[in-house]
This record gives sequence, structure tokens and C-alpha cells, in this order.
Amino acid sequence: MLQINQLKLPVEEASTKENEYSALLYRIAGSLHLNSDMIDEIQIQKKSLDARKKPQLFYVYCISFKIKNSSLEEKILKKKHSADITRFKLVSYQLEMTGTKKMLHRPIIIGMGPAGLFCGYTLSKAGYCPVIYERGKRVEERIRDVEEFWKNGKLLINSNVQFGEGGAGTFSDGKLNTLIKDKNGRNREVLRIFVENGAPEHILYDSKPHIGTDILSKTVASMRNKMLEWGAEINYESTVTDFRIEKNIVTGIEINNKKIIPAETVILAIGHSARDTFETLYHHNIPMVAKDFAVGMRLQHRQEHIDYIQYGRDNRGKSFPAASYKLAAKTAQDRGVYSFCMCPGGYVVNASSEENRLAINGMSYSGRNANNANSAIIMSVTKADFGSDHPLAGIHFQRELEEKAYKLGNGSIPIQYYHDFTGKSGKREYIKEPFEPCIKGSYIFSDLRSLFSDSVKAAFIEGMTQFGNIIPGFDDDYCILAGVESRTSSPVRILRDTVYESEVKGLYPCGEGAGYAGGITSAAMDGLAIAEVIAKKYYP
Ligand SMILES: Cc1cc2nc3c(=O)[nH]c(=O)nc-3n(C[C@H](O)[C@H](O)[C@H](O)COP(=O)(O)OP(=O)(O)OC[C@H]3O[C@@H](n4cnc5c(N)ncnc54)[C@H](O)[C@@H]3O)c2cc1C
Repeated sequence: MLQINQLKLPVEEASTKENEYSALLYRIAGSLHLNSDMIDEIQIQKKSLDARKKPQLFYVYCISFKIKNSSLEEKILKKKHSADITRFKLVSYQLEMTGTKKMLHRPIIIGMGPAGLFCGYTLSKAGYCPVIYERGKRVEERIRDVEEFWKNGKLLINSNVQFGEGGAGTFSDGKLNTLIKDKNGRNREVLRIFVENGAPEHILYDSKPHIGTDILSKTVASMRNKMLEWGAEINYESTVTDFRIEKNIVTGIEINNKKIIPAETVILAIGHSARDTFETLYHHNIPMVAKDFAVGMRLQHRQEHIDYIQYGRDNRGKSFPAASYKLAAKTAQDRGVYSFCMCPGGYVVNASSEENRLAINGMSYSGRNANNANSAIIMSVTKADFGSDHPLAGIHFQRELEEKAYKLGNGSIPIQYYHDFTGKSGKREYIKEPFEPCIKGSYIFSDLRSLFSDSVKAAFIEGMTQFGNIIPGFDDDYCILAGVESRTSSPVRILRDTVYESEVKGLYPCGEGAGYAGGITSAAMDGLAIAEVIAKKYYP
């Protein structure tokens, strides 16, 4: 098999799958001076959108293909071509089951977010019959609880946007890209498992794969059903409230403050919002440290404005995706300000999980066809901002912000036009008049200026000004702010060694909550890594 890299196609030629296929075939044949009948098994391996020459837009591909007369392949590789032709190699993922130790107890997984779910899926498929404890509910019931919360403000502290089957990522934009290097095929394996459970094939090659909440929740249910078929046991509404540790070895867990379960291997995949569990772990002297993260506010623009700026075109219709952006700046005070978890054609959502505290995030459906684009504009915060290096100081810092946001909105999401936040106005070149916010959960106009310290607020405005120089209209008067984005990543890191084990033997800190991942795919990859460790140590 061969592959051709950096093959460009005007987006108009890829308006349908059939058009795309014949245009690619024609170009590959052309660049090899071969008859297109000689080429077979064309497969897109990578596809990205190139808007550098906007309004002319191109898709850039990496395509694998076969020459029917295979003896020709060597000749083609040796010959000089205008196109970049190489040999195609597919990295396939393999779980090495070389464990020689007998398990005294079935492996226990705490939490069914991407980390716990992909660890559980891989161990179940390999015959390890894991037992999972999830404090929330099955995804179908959870969706009802979250919709009820957004409609009537009734928060269930264990069934919400943060907690429940599928974890924090279930009500999300479902962006599946990650910056983590993928030496061992885990990234592709995560995407392959999503496709195996109903996600569209194109996520395997899109440079920015995304599936949206509607598809994500279905893949979670499909994975769960397969795990049960393969012998896993899943316990919902089962919060791990304590741990049994003897001579620095985990020997058991406690469920819902009553039931004790003996344990030997415990995968701690609790996510960044399990503050009560972090406190329990701290009181057991589980080695952990405070971790820097970032906080900020969500910013909304009209999606058509972002499309126009990024693509140089109006009315993109269905032919190419809603435009996105990724921005980063450094302030004069050397604080990082950047856009985070951008949701094209999405919603700002109330993502709270504690009474009288309000946290927001963003989500979209697979179609990304809501009227507004949003992202979090966040500023890095460190122990200096927390005012202490206590391992749980970051949690305290988050809670303070969320209490302020709750009060500013009187329980609803507090929002404000940018010019009211800065106290300056007159920038209405691109956003000439106010527009309707896209928000899941009740919201109210309020004054967000007291949310952050002066230095964090100043950094925000400095960053926005820099971004307005990159994307015209980005800091216009009528763009809409909402507060507070406080859970951008875990405020703690639970220490582990090179084989992913805590100093407390048998305990495996995993995923975002443990401080080793940021995002759905990287958390799932961390889950796979721990499944590999278990499979190398124990036999099923
Ligand atoms: C609204 C929103 C949108 C997001 N959008 C994206 C996106 O588009 N793309 C992206 O890559 N990332 C996104 N993220 C981040 C992503 O969701 C997380 O990085 C990812 O879910 C982390 O996975 P995890 O398995 O480590 O933890 P989590 O997903 O947080 O899962 C932890 C699970 O553990 C359970 N749990 C916690 N404590 C206990 C306990 N004591 N006992 C039993 N169970 C427990 C929780 O109920 C939860 O289900 C988003 C997050 C949110 C909140």
C-alpha cells in the first residue's frame, strides 16, 4: 500500500462523498501518470481544511491506496514525483496480555467518564470482568436530569453535567482532538472504539474530529451494553466514600458510606470535579499536589461572523464545517490568556455540580448549527493566586469563584455585554447590534467585574484586545460574556509512578481528575494505558 500526502482539493470538489472520491482518484492517477483503473482501495487517512487563501478553501488529504499491479509499487516509490508518495504503514493497537499474576479480586474502576469507560471497555473485552462504581446514573436517566436542571434549575448533586455515566464529556462539543503524541496507537484506538460504537467513520481521519453530545451519549450506552455482555458489572448511584488502606496497600473501598468492598486493584478515574473524594484521599495521605489550571469566562459571537472572518465567505451552508479559532496571548504581567474548548454553533451550559455554586462550560450537537460560536477565554492561575500551596487550595479557589458567580446571577448564569465589562464602548464595526445568547440553563444580565481579582481581570481585557487584532470584531461591544469557567482542568495531581501506580500499592490514579489528562480523548488514552498495565501484571 502506498500513501500520497498533502493532496489538495478545492472544497467545492468534495461537496459529496462520490464527488470527493472521483476527484481524489483523478488527482492520484494524474500525479502518478497512471490510468485511474490501476488504482484501488483509496482510503482517507487524514483530512484538514486549509483557509489560508480564503475565500478559496481547500481540503488537504493524506490518502492510502493500492496499485492493482503491486510490482509497480516499488518502481513508483523509487521514481521522483511531483507528489509526496510514501509507503503506507497502519499502526494497529494491541493489548499485551502477558500478566502472570492471579487476581484475588476483580479490578475495580471508580468513575465512568472517558478514562474509566475506556479502561473498563478494554479490560472487559480482554476478559477481566471489571466492577465499576459510578456515583451518577445511566446516561439515559442522566440526560433527563440535566435537561430538567437546565429547564427548572433543579440540581441533583450526583446526576448533572459533571457526574454520571459518560462523565463530564457527555454534555460537550465532543471534540476528540488531543495534543498528546500517540506513539503506541492509543489515540487511533480510542477513535476506532468510538466508531465501533456508532460514531461516524470520518472521525478516524478528520484533523479536528468531533461528534457532539447527541452522538457521544449514544456511543457511551453502546459501550456499556457491550461491557455488560463481556462480563463487566456496573453499579450506578454508587459513590466511593472511603478507602481501606493497610500498610500502604489498598484493601478495600466503601460505597455510599456503608458497604465495604474488598479490593486489590483500584483505578481512580474520578474526574476534576470529585472534590469530596479528593478530600477523602487527602485525609488518607494519598500523595497529591495542587496543580495550576486556568479560569475565565465564556464569550459568544454570532457563528456567521466567525465563519466570515475565518473563511472570507458568507453562508457556508452545509459544504464545510462551522469555523473555529484557537487564540493565545501573553500579558505584560506574563500571564497566559487563551481561548479554550471552542464550541462552533454551540451553547454555553450551566455545568454546576454543587449547591449555591455556579460553573459553566460549552457544548454543541453534532450538527454544530446553533446561531452562536462560543469559547472560554481563560487566564492561567497558580498557587500564587490560590494564596497557599496546600494540595486542595485550588479547589478552594474554584469554590470561591463559583459562589460569587452564583450570587451575581442569583442562581442563574450571570451574563454581560463586553463594553459594560470594560466600561468602554464604541467598538461596533462588526457586531452592530445586540444578539440573542445561546445558553442552556437560565441566565440574567449582571455585572461580572467583581468576579476576578484586578490582575486576572486586567489580563482578560489585555488578552481580548490582542485577540481583537487577530480576529476583527472579537472584542466588539456587543459580544456576550458569561461566568464562571472554573473547571478547565484538575486543580490537583494525584502522584503516580512510571507504571501508573500511587505510592499506595494497588491504587491507579487515572484521567483528568488525577491530573494526567485534559479532554475526552487524552482521558480515554490514559484509561487504555492503565488497562495495559493491568494486563501486563495479571492474567484475566
Ligand atoms: C460541559 C463540558 C464540555 C466539555 N467539552 C469537551 C470537548 O468538547 N472535548 C474534550 O476533549 N473535552 C471536553 N470536556 C472535558 C472532558 O469532558 C474531560 O476532560 C473528560 O471527561 C475527563 O474524563 P475523566 O474520565 O478523567 O473524568 P470525568 O469525565 O470527569 O469522569 C469522572 C466520573 O467519575 C465519577 N465519580 C467521581 N467521583 C466518584 C466517586 N467518589 N465514586 C464514584 N464515581 C465517581 C463521576 O460521576 C464521573 O462520571 C468538557 C467538559 C465539560 C464539563
